[in-house]
Amino acid sequence: MDNEPDLLVVGGGPAGAITARCAAEKGADTLLIDKKEDPSRSSLCGGLVSVDTWQKLGSPESAFLGKINGAIIHTPDDTSYTLSATDPRAIVLDRNRLNQVLLHRAEEKGVRVKSGLNLIDLDGEGVQLKDLKTEKIFPAHPKFSVGADGPASDVRRLIGGDDPPGRLYAIQADARSDRFHEDLVEVYFGSDVAPGFFAWVIPTAADRARVGLATEEGSRLTEFLANLMDKVGPEDTWNERTGTIPIGVPGGSPREDVLLVGDAAGQVKPTTGGGLYPITFTAEIAGDAVAKGLNGLNNPNAYYREEWMRAVGRRLEKEILLHKVLGRLSDEDLNSILELLDEPKVAELLIERGDTDHLYSLAKDLLKTPSVLTSLLRALPTRLGWKLRQEIAG
Ligand SMILES: Cc1cc2nc3c(=O)[nH]c(=O)nc-3n(C[C@H](O)[C@H](O)[C@H](O)COP(=O)(O)OP(=O)(O)OC[C@H]3O[C@@H](n4cnc5c(N)ncnc54)[C@H](O)[C@@H]3O)c2cc1C
Repeated sequence: MDNEPDLLVVGGGPAGAITARCAAEKGADTLLIDKKEDPSRSSLCGGLVSVDTWQKLGSPESAFLGKINGAIIHTPDDTSYTLSATDPRAIVLDRNRLNQVLLHRAEEKGVRVKSGLNLIDLDGEGVQLKDLKTEKIFPAHPKFSVGADGPASDVRRLIGGDDPPGRLYAIQADARSDRFHEDLVEVYFGSDVAPGFFAWVIPTAADRARVGLATEEGSRLTEFLANLMDKVGPEDTWNERTGTIPIGVPGGSPREDVLLVGDAAGQVKPTTGGGLYPITFTAEIAGDAVAKGLNGLNNPNAYYREEWMRAVGRRLEKEILLHKVLGRLSDEDLNSILELLDEPKVAELLIERGDTDHLYSLAKDLLKTPSVLTSLLRALPTRLGWKLRQEIAG
């Protein structure tokens, strides 16, 4: 390849675009490729982020769709609880726009962005790229590579990296209804819509929303979505898509010169399926690590792993316990636990502290409320209950 880059970033989603920008800012000659013809067409996403994450993404105004002040929680037996704060707790993003803004910012720092290029091989000698239009295959020899190529990462597979230990299967469609609440998300629990996880309605305009769900039972996605739509009752739906969400942090990349970022590295919150929050830490650290590697740092991948685990990875690992707890609750358990949202103390704590980035510390505090702890311990198998007690004590 003419003009061999210092760094090849595979994947033009948020993880790749931020990593590329940060590395280029620090002097790395960076090429970012994406197999899509238009990499600003985002992977499937609800586009909901906390206000803090919105700011860490650089408040991309053109991607702003709306502010969220709270949530309506629907139990399996169709009881609803509304928790609403006076100030915004989350922002809904136009995900295509977000990709566009982040890629543009990378280009402004000198990153060469090339679309329609598929990474098809990566070994000790270099990489093979395929131009999807001309079908031409050509080699490249970057000093470092970053796999920011999503949950089914080709880079991870080609270097023999471990897959994330778990995954959720997700489905989502756009919907129109006059009954949506513009400033509230809706969350549905229950084995008929999302066994082991939850379903959501995320408003994107006064009468529009993204309606979706995630579950471990991937073979019944369309059935669950139909059940959910029966409850939500939209007038119209379109743009139905499926995707996966990695759960759990796998071991690091086995290659010193290849880093994995974003969904490719399991950098997702196991409690919410949110990946944008972790990326705001990890992608910057990855870009910095590559720049340090180019300036002589030995094994920048080990440095990257240590730094991102310290910044956010350990918290993601802790949230696995909460993910497991949610997965073990029956519809009856969920009905009786969610009934506690009627208790003013529980509701106040959730309204005051309810942002999706810090669910682990919020859960720890909630579990200090005796009624919450008792209900949960009653519902859980002894071993999981014991682990939960240990966590609260820790
Ligand atoms: C249904 C659903 C709802 C979600 N809702 C939210 C939410 O509300 N909030 C939130 O924070 N997170 C949410 N997430 C998670 C979030 O979407 C992801 O964590 C995020 O998109 C990960 O970004 P990424 O850059 O790592 O990967 P991606 O955005 O998936 O980008 C990967 C890119 O790599 C490219 N690529 C793949 N293979 C190759 C190859 N061989 N060669 C070249 N290019 C390649 C792809 O074309 C793609 O553009 C949701 C996920 C799902 C499935």
